[in-house]
Amino acid sequence: MSLLSTKHLLGINDITLDDINLIFKTADNFMEVINRPIKKVPSLRDITIANVFFENSTRTKISFELAEKRLSADVVNFSSSSSSVTKGETLIDTVNNILAMKVDMVVMRHPAPGAHQFLARHIDANIINAGDGTHEHPTQALLDAFSLRQKMGDLNGKKIVIVGDILHSRVALSNIYCLQRLGAKVRVCGPPTLLPKHISSLGVEVSHNLKESLTWCDAANMLRIQLERQEDKYFPSLREYSLQYGVTLPMLEKLDKEIVLMHPGPINRGVEITSEVADSEQSIILNQVENGVAIRMAVLYLLAGKAND
Ligand code: ASP
Repeated sequence: MSLLSTKHLLGINDITLDDINLIFKTADNFMEVINRPIKKVPSLRDITIANVFFENSTRTKISFELAEKRLSADVVNFSSSSSSVTKGETLIDTVNNILAMKVDMVVMRHPAPGAHQFLARHIDANIINAGDGTHEHPTQALLDAFSLRQKMGDLNGKKIVIVGDILHSRVALSNIYCLQRLGAKVRVCGPPTLLPKHISSLGVEVSHNLKESLTWCDAANMLRIQLERQEDKYFPSLREYSLQYGVTLPMLEKLDKEIVLMHPGPINRGVEITSEVADSEQSIILNQVENGVAIRMAVLYLLAGKAND
């Protein structure tokens, strides 16, 4: 039995505000655990988790694996380069074969939006979405909101701008859903070619002006340009993109307040954010990475049906 309103974490759109608050409360407890000299608890020692990654990942995969190991789960890893999917096996067959080995939870990253919804209808294990194409990346949004809340307190009424490649970003969509659930005002900012046409129907403000958006916001989430998903040219060159949509230290110094800067990683230093900004006091980029482990521990623990101690 899951203590969340759902058996799976497929997307932020599928969970409630109560779920988000419970995940945060549980993550607060796990933050304490991961800062102890002995960072391990036995909570999931009877649980086996498969990390199934059909797309490259560095930090998300490491973060999930650390979270699982700190909860004492048994962990198996499976990635597309070594998988039989490249030999023509279907997704359900691949995952069912893994489950036949008595796996309880599947953390999956897949390039197809909706792959997790499809899988959840066909297999009997908790599914956690670690990114489905350009659709959702729910644990990233949870760790982003958790990190903002740690820095700025209650997010109700706070103004957050998400800057850059909204069109190809799963981080953007999950962040919009999560921040709005928490009562924040969300704006997206980028070149018209990188903003989906009907994005305002999600209740977000739309802007093409970075300087004005930085004046408006309390925090800016700088997204990476997803070159690997761009078949067409959406802007003349990275240099020109960066001149219009990259945040620099002089820009921040001109503001009459101190805003918070975040980035889901991997950073392209000098494109969406300069090194000086990434490494400044205003940046919470490394806090996001640290908090990611606690958030993922909380999600796994709650989905496994463990009570909040
Ligand atoms: N790591 C994030 C993701 O998997 C963001 C990025 O790759 O730009 O979507």
